[in-house]
Amino acid sequence: MLKIGITGGIGSGKSTVGRMFQVLDVPVFEADAEGKRILADDPDVRAAVTAAFGADAYPQGRLDRHHLAGIIFADPVAREKLNAIVHPAVRTAFGRWAADQEAPYVLMASALLVGSGGARALDGLVLVTAPETLRLQRVMARDDADEHAVRARMAAQLQEEEMRAAADHVIVNDDRRPVIPQVLEVHQALLQRATR
Ligand code: ADP
Repeated sequence: MLKIGITGGIGSGKSTVGRMFQVLDVPVFEADAEGKRILADDPDVRAAVTAAFGADAYPQGRLDRHHLAGIIFADPVAREKLNAIVHPAVRTAFGRWAADQEAPYVLMASALLVGSGGARALDGLVLVTAPETLRLQRVMARDDADEHAVRARMAAQLQEEEMRAAADHVIVNDDRRPVIPQVLEVHQALLQRATR
């Protein structure tokens, strides 16, 4: 079974495109959502986060996401530290999940695959891309957020050009090029690779 990443900047449409692959019976692992769940619930991760950031991370036993976000937003070293705890746990969860799937290939969807080393454990990478102004409009509409807040989230991510260099397949989701034919083309290519 091939393990393929699907990534893209916020608002590129990677979740939307991921659902198109799901319609084709491709199992999709939502790594960013899984990371949030693990941070809140996984006993080993909770212990490591408490050791690194103090008991205030889980007041009354429940994750204080805002407290932790405040720490890592201001401090790149703290962010790295948190990632070094959460990312390996997500990779382990992905490996376990993938072993349970019966499919020629599976997708791991994450905004953070390139640059975090996450792509190294994968057999390939699909990039979903869209112009920045369109991404901005989409996220403002989706999250009911203002431009400033969305731009701050975009600025914390890698630029799409950096992701493009690591991608084996690019799907352009710019409201101009039809997306479904591109998805079908990538799907066929991956099926062929998986059965080679
Ligand atoms: P990401 O997961 O990359 O942040 P999403 O898949 O959530 O992006 O897409 C952002 C928003 O744009 C969502 O509200 C989604 O419904 C919309 N969207 C994405 N791609 C398309 C498309 N091809 N046509 C219409 N709406 C789209």
